[in-house]
Amino acid sequence: DGVSYGLLPRPCRALVLLNPQSGAGRALEDFQAVVQPMLADADIAATVFVTERPHHAQEKVRDEDLSQWDVLVVMSGDGLLHEVLNGLMERPDWEEALQTPLCILPGGSGNALAASINYYAGNDHVAKKKLLTNCTFILCKGLHAPMDLVSLSTASGKRFFSFLGFGWGFIADVDIDSEKYRRLGNARFTLGTLQCLVRLRVYQGRLSYLPAATEPGTPRDRKAPARRAAPTAGTEAPSGHGALPADTLLVPLGQPVPPHWVVVPEEEFVCVYAIYQSHLGTNLLMAPAARLHDGCIHLFYVGAGISRVALLKIFLAMGRGTHLDLNCPHLHCVPVRAFRLEPRGSAGIMTVDGEALACEPVQGQIHGHMCRVVTA
Ligand code: ADP
Ligand code: MG
Repeated sequence: DGVSYGLLPRPCRALVLLNPQSGAGRALEDFQAVVQPMLADADIAATVFVTERPHHAQEKVRDEDLSQWDVLVVMSGDGLLHEVLNGLMERPDWEEALQTPLCILPGGSGNALAASINYYAGNDHVAKKKLLTNCTFILCKGLHAPMDLVSLSTASGKRFFSFLGFGWGFIADVDIDSEKYRRLGNARFTLGTLQCLVRLRVYQGRLSYLPAATEPGTPRDRKAPARRAAPTAGTEAPSGHGALPADTLLVPLGQPVPPHWVVVPEEEFVCVYAIYQSHLGTNLLMAPAARLHDGCIHLFYVGAGISRVALLKIFLAMGRGTHLDLNCPHLHCVPVRAFRLEPRGSAGIMTVDGEALACEPVQGQIHGHMCRVVTA
């Protein structure tokens, strides 16, 4: 589908943004011991920028002269890449800035994109040092390809760009509650899952989506009046230098969703998760069919009424990506281009790429091929 692959130049100049606090706190040691020698052999010159606080990497890439670098490498968890991406989007020249290939090396406790890229490459499932070695090897080969991003807007007017997923309910709680166990590495999610299972709760709200099967702008219900999505969501200027991309599939959150959208009949959920990569974590293959640029958001939701045992079975099966084969009536998975979630009340937490967000109405849509990422 006209996918433009690219190759990093040699010699190659890499800016490595490294969070020394990520994961078990060994990112810098691992970089020096595992990554540095491999990059040197591949004629990739690495300049390491060690972050000192949250948002440090975001500010760095927002203000950086990017012509000095051939690739921006993030050695941390998904959270730091989320910062880097949103820092690039704050630049007036964001469109050009997003052409700089990004690369993720797993240094955190949540390394979902690294695990996804390892999976897309056809490699065996691995974790820890082996995953780091695989991802570094992919960087040494230097191939890069387009990646889809999702633009998320909240009722209070925030806008984010996201590469991994948006969550609410059970999984979001596990993600955030387990931050205190970061030093356990990926095991933090197993422990967090068991804890959240014990005090399983129900979240109320309304979920709507635009199915991927319908062509954008072609209502499924042909009798529906022409109350289609407005050309722009009205949140951003549609054009001009630096204007952010318009969310042409969305209408403002104050208005009802367009008539060709589907409104989910359930209003009580255990969890909602919109994922756009295959892996939710190193050991969680949530969307086996997902690819870097498939133009799809894979929308999962679990309705209330599921038993703890059934929910645990889903999580165990997700290790091998076989959870949909369980045919659990509470588990739904739909490929969509856009979605809206309107929680009733503001209790609970939402996550974007594993980072916490206050609970409020949110909607998002896919933007195909928006940035570039190092991949096999
Ligand atoms: P992990 O997978 O271990 O959570 P992340 O890359 O997601 O690793 O990073 C977690 C958070 O740490 C991010 O929100 C980031 O802003 C923050 N951060 C970055 N640098 C530092 C630092 N030096 N000290 C503390 N926090 C930092
Ligand atoms: Mg994180």
